[in-house]
Amino acid sequence: MKCTACDSGNLVPSFLDDLFRCHTCDNCGGNWILIEDYIGWKERHPEHVFSGESIEAEDSPGALICPMSGGIMRKFRVAKDNAHRLDYSARVGGVWLHKGEWEMLVAEGLAGNLNAILTDQWQHRIRKEKASESLENLYRSKFGDADYEKACDIREWLHAHPHKCDIRAFLMADSPFSAS
Ligand SMILES: [Zn+2]
Repeated sequence: MKCTACDSGNLVPSFLDDLFRCHTCDNCGGNWILIEDYIGWKERHPEHVFSGESIEAEDSPGALICPMSGGIMRKFRVAKDNAHRLDYSARVGGVWLHKGEWEMLVAEGLAGNLNAILTDQWQHRIRKEKASESLENLYRSKFGDADYEKACDIREWLHAHPHKCDIRAFLMADSPFSAS
């Protein structure tokens, strides 16, 4: 099997971190993993704790070609604050990890979630988190950091208060102490 990431290496059978079966490129060091191999191994080792140091991880902005089917692979973001995207071929259930990306997943505590990352739910959650973060940034820049924090505290206190409707009316009224 030819490596489609560097276009010059061969994907040779190996084991990722001596754990589960994969194919590793003898030129660029990337790894091709079949999700069924990963899940099968995980099911046999539910107690395994991934640990290790992160190394410089490569990434490619462009689309990758699946080394098995020849189709274009889809990119899956791993987390809100991590720009790395994994390349997944849904047709064959294979994921491509550039050199260092597995170590990055381990260091970020995501190595046990490899199959979950490749789901729409995971991707949807990241998009939702990013959207709420940009809204927060919008409020922050509008109010200023100190007032934003103050508003959050008041909001939390108000929402938990049994008389929140009355308090809100009191706060918003132009002259709450006037009888008329
Ligand atoms: Zn390669």
